Amino acid sequence: MSATRTPSYEVLVIGAGFGGLGTGTALRRAGIENFLIIDKWDRVGGTWNANTYPGVAVDVPSPIYNFSFQQRSHWSRFFAPGTEIQRYAEEVADRQGLRGKLRLGCGATEARFDEAADLWRVRTSDGAELSARFLVSAVGALEQPKPPAIPDIDTYSGTLMHTARWDHSRDYRGKRVAVIGTGATALQVIPKLAEQAAQLTVFQRTAIWVAPKPDFPLGAAGNRMLDFPPAQQAVRLIGNVAVNAFLGLGLALSDYPRLTSAVLGTGEAVLKAYLFTQIRDRTLRRALTPTYRLGCKRPSISNAYFRTYTRPHVDLITTPIERFTPGGIRTEDGEHREFDMVVTATGFQVMDKGATPPYPVYGCGGIELGEFWDTHKYQAYEGVSVPAFPNMFHIFGPYGYAPGSVIPLIEATAAHSARAIGEARRRGATRVQIRQEPHEEYFARMYARNRNTYLFKQGCADSRTYYINYQGDGPAFRATTQAGMYWSNRHFPLDHYRYTTSRTAVSELGGEAQPVGASRSPITHP
Ligand code: NAP
Repeated sequence: MSATRTPSYEVLVIGAGFGGLGTGTALRRAGIENFLIIDKWDRVGGTWNANTYPGVAVDVPSPIYNFSFQQRSHWSRFFAPGTEIQRYAEEVADRQGLRGKLRLGCGATEARFDEAADLWRVRTSDGAELSARFLVSAVGALEQPKPPAIPDIDTYSGTLMHTARWDHSRDYRGKRVAVIGTGATALQVIPKLAEQAAQLTVFQRTAIWVAPKPDFPLGAAGNRMLDFPPAQQAVRLIGNVAVNAFLGLGLALSDYPRLTSAVLGTGEAVLKAYLFTQIRDRTLRRALTPTYRLGCKRPSISNAYFRTYTRPHVDLITTPIERFTPGGIRTEDGEHREFDMVVTATGFQVMDKGATPPYPVYGCGGIELGEFWDTHKYQAYEGVSVPAFPNMFHIFGPYGYAPGSVIPLIEATAAHSARAIGEARRRGATRVQIRQEPHEEYFARMYARNRNTYLFKQGCADSRTYYINYQGDGPAFRATTQAGMYWSNRHFPLDHYRYTTSRTAVSELGGEAQPVGASRSPITHP
């Protein structure tokens, strides 16, 4: 890597999805203008470029899947389709003045901290090397598709695709289609495929808890209502509390096992009643009823999912898959089924070695982040920073996400990053590093809280949840409320970080040069 000691940018943000756009906005609001956002996709929106499968839609209400600083009032539906969410990301890039900060079609392939110069050097897919004083990794936690580990998958000769890499040139109309998986993604794609496939076969390994989806077209009246700020704020508040409760209340209440049990038991009864209203056939209903506690893995919402199984051309198979064959799939009972297309709705590698983030990151002493986490467990102060990796911040880091809409997480961790960078700048420091003690205290506290949740108890034993990673830990979430996540990322003591200035580090910036510690430039936000 190059030897220049003059970073081209004050901050480099990797990822132009909602995480990167939220970070860019937080930086601008902190008066930090010399930054670049890169992304491997050729447009903004991140996950909404990866996930374009039929039926893709946001599964939290649209009014809460938008930033507090740019609330959109014109949604087609209460749960907007993916294309609309991607369009909203474009609107954010425009309105927050981020367009000129983007370099698209340029993914990070390696990041290395230069200890002598206190800067990050990042190699990119287009062969360039970028350098920046600070690095923000905003690549998303659901980034690397996870193919199913099924024998002979390579021998299959039909169309095989993962939902996060949908090939729109392949037609499923009139075809014999299989779907492997019944997670939140499958719930959206299955009803859509069933509309036009000749035959649809779903292979379920673990059933999912499903709630009805309160979805409806917003229409002119709904959009007018969302134009009225108090109404918009009320929808936002109620929506965030409801989604946080649906996805994470049981985890946040881990100190109160009896209350948790009562809450989860009530939720399960309601969802079983919903299933009863959708499916009259007792055998089918039993097959679709989870055998693990509500909340062990992510539940989801759909009005169409259960009913799809009552259609004559749709089959649910619960016999385990034995192997792929060139023509289709053989199950363990010896039955062989032929398919023209197999869709793997098998999710993502979450907090897996080499997947989060999906490029190697070398910190002090050449230590690699994935190796460090593999050896010492996934850990990051507030889900944002790791001691041996100075000047680096994560938007979706370990023990950072209190389940709910992902937008409050992004706003919280982006604010955290901008706050620490802003303080380093104020002090004229070239290095900002989380101190070992607060880091360890946070990790120990979150680890213990997670361990105390029902996730690690008997009721979740057969859930195969991705909330628990390959190490048997639960770093994908923090067992607090979103309000706790919001507060602590904005109010952590600034001296939890150590700020130092290296004599050998150059304090001037190259590129769109601005001295580190320059006075804040006024920003106008439309
Ligand atoms: P997922 O929740 O991890 O589900 C993967 C599914 O594939 C599971 O049913 C799993 O079964 C199955 N599977 C994996 N390997 C298999 C194998 N070898 N054989 C048979 N089945 C196999 O993934 P996802 O549905 O893509 O959802 C991931 C996350 O994306 C969600 O939790 C949510 O956070 C997010 N999401 C968001 C939206 C949105 O609109 N905002 C929409 C969709 C998804 P097991 O359970 O038995 O492992």
